[in-house]
Amino acid sequence: MPSQTRKSHFRTIQKFKTDYAPVSISQYVSERTGMHVVVADQKGPKVQGYFALATEIFDDSGSPHTLEHLVFMGSKSYQYKGLLDKLASRAYSNTNAWTATDHTAYTLDTAGWEGFAQILPVYLEHVILPTLTDAGCYTEVHHIDGEGNDAGVVYSEMQGVQNTGGEIMDIRARRLLYPENVGFRYETGGLMPNLRVLTADRIREFHKEMYQPKNLCLVLVGEVDEENLLQILDDFEDTIINDIPPPSAPFKRPWVESAQPPAIAKTIVETIEFPEEDESMGDILIAMFGPDCNSAIETAALTVLLTYLAGSSVSVLENIMVEKEELASAIYQNWDARPNSVIWIQPSGVATDKLAHVEQRLFEILREVNSKPLDMKYMSDCIGREKRRIKSQAESSSSFYADGIINDFLFGKRDGSTLKDMGTLSEFDSLEKWSDEKWREFMRKWITDAPHISLLGTPSKSMSEKIKADEEARLAARRKELGPEGLAKLAEKLKDAIAKNEVEIPNSLLQKWPVPGVESIHFIESITARSGQAKKLGAPSNRIQQVVDKQASDVPLFLQFEHVPSNFVNIIVLLGTSQVATEHRPLLPLFLDNFFNTPIMKDGKKIDFETVVTQLEQDTVSYSMNGGGRIGDAEGLAIQFQVEPEKYAAAIEWIRTMMFDSLFDETRLKAGIAKILADIPEEKRSGNSMMYAVDSMIHGDKDSNIVARGTLVKAVYMKRLKNLLANEPATVIGWLEALRKSLFTFESMRTLVIADIEKLPNPVQAWKPLIAGLDTTKELLPLVKGKDRLSPDGKNPGNYGAVIVPMPTIDSSFLISSAKGPDDYNDPRLPALMVAISFLDSVEGPVWTAVRGTGLAYGANFRKDTDAGHVSFSIYRSPDVHRAFIAGKKILESYIDGTAKFEDHALEGAVSQIVCNLADEQATMSRAGQFHFVNGVVKGVDDEYDTRMLKRVREVKVEEIKGAMREILLPLFKAGSANLVATVAPIMKENMVKGFTELGFKTQVKPLSAFKESYGLEGEEGEDEGDDDEEGSDDGGSGSDEEMSEED
Ligand SMILES: [Zn+2]
Repeated sequence: MPSQTRKSHFRTIQKFKTDYAPVSISQYVSERTGMHVVVADQKGPKVQGYFALATEIFDDSGSPHTLEHLVFMGSKSYQYKGLLDKLASRAYSNTNAWTATDHTAYTLDTAGWEGFAQILPVYLEHVILPTLTDAGCYTEVHHIDGEGNDAGVVYSEMQGVQNTGGEIMDIRARRLLYPENVGFRYETGGLMPNLRVLTADRIREFHKEMYQPKNLCLVLVGEVDEENLLQILDDFEDTIINDIPPPSAPFKRPWVESAQPPAIAKTIVETIEFPEEDESMGDILIAMFGPDCNSAIETAALTVLLTYLAGSSVSVLENIMVEKEELASAIYQNWDARPNSVIWIQPSGVATDKLAHVEQRLFEILREVNSKPLDMKYMSDCIGREKRRIKSQAESSSSFYADGIINDFLFGKRDGSTLKDMGTLSEFDSLEKWSDEKWREFMRKWITDAPHISLLGTPSKSMSEKIKADEEARLAARRKELGPEGLAKLAEKLKDAIAKNEVEIPNSLLQKWPVPGVESIHFIESITARSGQAKKLGAPSNRIQQVVDKQASDVPLFLQFEHVPSNFVNIIVLLGTSQVATEHRPLLPLFLDNFFNTPIMKDGKKIDFETVVTQLEQDTVSYSMNGGGRIGDAEGLAIQFQVEPEKYAAAIEWIRTMMFDSLFDETRLKAGIAKILADIPEEKRSGNSMMYAVDSMIHGDKDSNIVARGTLVKAVYMKRLKNLLANEPATVIGWLEALRKSLFTFESMRTLVIADIEKLPNPVQAWKPLIAGLDTTKELLPLVKGKDRLSPDGKNPGNYGAVIVPMPTIDSSFLISSAKGPDDYNDPRLPALMVAISFLDSVEGPVWTAVRGTGLAYGANFRKDTDAGHVSFSIYRSPDVHRAFIAGKKILESYIDGTAKFEDHALEGAVSQIVCNLADEQATMSRAGQFHFVNGVVKGVDDEYDTRMLKRVREVKVEEIKGAMREILLPLFKAGSANLVATVAPIMKENMVKGFTELGFKTQVKPLSAFKESYGLEGEEGEDEGDDDEEGSDDGGSGSDEEMSEED
């Protein structure tokens, strides 16, 4: 079988090592088709592929985006919708894709090379030779349904974004930046009027033009068998060579050989409206052209300069405009890589009546900064921090390589000389030598003196109403024109198209691909060692434990070490919260925000917060204090540091300082509350977030930090706290002091260090200062489980019934159903439940087909939460959650009663996905280390737990799966055992009440304001109740702008 005689058509352009990470990069090109391949050999269990096409179009038809969806509908040799995803899930893989203005990228994310290698040629055929049928375009892109509504997967997706403020401002900026002959001007996602008239032929034509191998670059990040890869690609090219345009035919390289935009002639400041009920807050978008993205030195300078200006709370724009003058809740900055890159500066959360003033103030500050010498010490800090950040990403992120390589493919030189720049960070060394004058000149050229475009995004209630009225009129006119007959015809046409798309995949075809072995999944080894109180969990015997034990220890602190060959040290201090007083819990959002942004006392002197943040930034890659959810302890809090090994002791000193020597400062607290309050209107606009928020208010008790930190508490509590702080600052500061005392105790700290422990000086002793002043005789307090923080309704789901929450800001609906589930990690039902959920939720699987495939919702899935002892079923963005809920119930019942069959390949896919999730959880060195900690410390299971679980998962019988579905999941659909929360557009209210009542649920309607909670903090006489009580206000709604995951 080995075919050594054949010479590969792929030529090696170059191979080089990066000097900042243990990663080499190889670049190849096919001499037959011109296809490009770049491999970055990052270590770890995951192989991640990005297949990028340089796509350029001069209209808003949405052809690039619609094509992205259609690729997943079948290919020349595999004319079945869903085949690719079904195969992928069995091969430990997930697929996804995105469309940007300048490229479309398809992703293949796999555990282990073997699975990746299996899917690669099938996937590539879908990209190069998709079927692109009329029926596929009809259902996926746009059609008119039997009720006369516009529908289609892409259409609905764009409907969700087109009228949002962000999108409206973005398009307007591009229209002003680019003339008609430059592709960056256009919305490649497709505008709704254009999508309504887009033809299948136009999409096919675009595919033929752009989706040629020579316009395709494969980026692979992970442990790749490169010889095997090139052979697979050679074989693949054999199969397509006769179906593609001749590789020698002339081809104009998109973007590079196209017209370039002229410079901005003069500054434009323009007010632009976007539809919004709440007219109080707007946004500003500022754009200007920057340097050529092929210049490593100039783009590095731009990144550093933007960090210097607006990268953190001490940088000048943020410091003055956010922290001091409270003119904005944040100032975002970034730049898009292009031959003429674009610099974006975005002050957000700006009071509408101050938009023009804030825009002027921003440039006034910039000019002032430029008129005086820069703070070169801080500039140097920014350079150092950016270098550390890149090193850290290069070690742990695949998108770091993908972004750089895709940009190079789009705009760089084909001889590899520009990609070679990825090999070093030497441009930062050059920047270290830049003089103050050189920096200021650079800043004048690109920012301060550069003509720019400023958009003042202004919320408009009347625009919101007009869009709604226009849309209703348009649809009414169409229905009238079509008449009942026309509508019936359309319903029939849609049915036909769906039937054509949904041809069943023969089992024999799926069985042609065996499930790949797991041998090629190389998990990162992390060696555990323990010290102090942690030893009570058992001290392993290995060489790292010996290193730790050698330090004769008088440090009783709970310390777990995870040894991995990383260039960085990750520290996590997990804090239990059982001692926090109930009435102090709603202070947590402020406490967390303030933790690192506050003055300290040092040697009897007060150090201001700017100095604190500046020094923190010098010593770290990153630092944060957040909820403990990411490390499996949703009720805990976590302080996290990433530093270089030589800063290990410094990081510990910082933790000590911020815990015990920080000062609560009235001005800082005031700024913190202002930021929290500015973000609330947006949080309260989201149907999905509010569904979860209401759900936690019903199921959690007041001692739950998830409840106390939730938006519905913050909305009222923070407003009152703001008043109290103004009138009685000592009271508020007293409460924060009490909260601090209850958090930072010896008995509530568990510490994790993930690092190359052998290279760490004094891994144990370094912690001594932290506990110096603490009472170390106390026993560790147990961690609080989710199940310990349930309300009576949380403990016994079913009594509460269903609640419908009308929200004027949404035009669709969201639902979550909760019921009891296993609350013990050793519950014998868990393996079967895991397989059942993985099976039901798989891509193109039962729930997907029943709910998403029928247009009943954008997504729906089951989840188990062992920590709280709950299971849930949630529906994401549905035109009718009641119907989607019934569809979910029916599909579940069909598997329980045997009318639907468990196909072997689907069960194999379910098990593969569990393996895949396990690899995801340990994908990088720091995550591998965390994984052990979560298991051993948070969940309290032993190291062999997952191996054992996986073995049992593989042995699960169909009867056991049915049992888990019947006993654990079916109760989610039954009155008496489930509680339901649905956030819905107001117009849906009556139907929902009727629908869920018919299903037997005790159903009530409550406004969002009914769930607010102030923890006993009273409002003042005459308090403006308007914003935290929307009962009286007559909001109309403008469409939700949820974070959505782009999917095929
Ligand atoms: Zn899409």
